Order: sequence, then structure tokens, then C-alpha cells
Amino acid sequence: MPTEADIIIIGAGVVGLAIAVEVSQANKRVFVFDKNHTFGLETSSRNSEVIHSSIYYPENSLKAKLCVERNRLLYEICEKNNIGYKRLSKRD
Ligand SMILES: Cc1cc2nc3c(=O)[nH]c(=O)nc-3n(C[C@H](O)[C@H](O)[C@H](O)COP(=O)(O)OP(=O)(O)OC[C@H]3O[C@@H](n4cnc5c(N)ncnc54)[C@H](O)[C@@H]3O)c2cc1C
Repeated sequence: MPTEADIIIIGAGVVGLAIAVEVSQANKRVFVFDKNHTFGLETSSRNSEVIHSSIYYPENSLKAKLCVERNRLLYEICEKNNIGYKRLSKRD
């Protein structure tokens, strides 16, 4: 167990953990700290679990572009890893 870190990430929600996976490919000593006793105890474990499609984001914005791209990737990742999901449509 290393005692010195190359990178320290504060927050073990979905964002912190996703960053940790990415940066740990190149850096061996990545530490993730959280104020709670384990990961994912805040917003990331209490959301509505919707895979957003970008319909509420401004057209041609970076947010909309990334959302469409990531939406496709997320379904791909679920398929590849046998993670169950429902492809629901959103109604007002
Ligand atoms: C009601 C609601 C519904 C949502 N529904 C959806 C949805 O359907 N689909 C969707 O894609 N997104 C949804 N979201 C948004 C999504 O959940 C968040 O964007 C996402 O979870 C944010 O992740 P995060 O890692 O940034 O934050 P968090 O999950 O909150 O993680 C932050 C972590 O940092 C830790 N932390 C904070 N301060 C410190 C500190 N000082 N020292 C150490 N650790 C600290 C916390 O303990 C926590 O573990 C929803 C959000 C809300 C509030």
C-alpha cells in the first residue's frame, strides 16, 4: 500500500470515481478521499437514474453535444458489461 500519492481526488461520488479510473491508468498512486466512511453516499446514490437525452439543454451547446455522445456510450457500456437498463421515453 503506497503512502505517497501522485494524485488526490476529493469526493467519491460518480464524478470522483470516474476521474480516478481514468487517471489511474497512467498514475499508480491515486488516492480518493471522502468525508463519509465509504463511496457514493451522497447525490450519486440518490438521483432518479435517468439517462438524459439532452432535450432540455440549449441546442448546439457543449452540454447538449456531450450529453448525446455520452448517452450513446452509456448504453454501449451497459450492453458490453451486462448491466441492466430500461430505455424509457420521457413524457411531460
Ligand atoms: C434529485 C436529483 C436527481 C437527479 N437525477 C439524475 C438523473 O436522473 N440522471 C442523471 O444523470 N443525473 C441526475 N442527477 C444529477 C447527478 O446525480 C449528479 O450530477 C451526480 O451524482 C454528481 O456526482 P458528483 O460525484 O459530482 O457528486 P456526489 O455524488 O455528491 O459526490 C461528491 C462526494 O464528495 C464528498 N465530499 C463533499 N465534500 C467533501 C469534503 N469536504 N471532503 C471530502 N469529501 C467530500 C461527498 O461525501 C460525496 O461522496 C440528479 C441530481 C439530483 C439532486
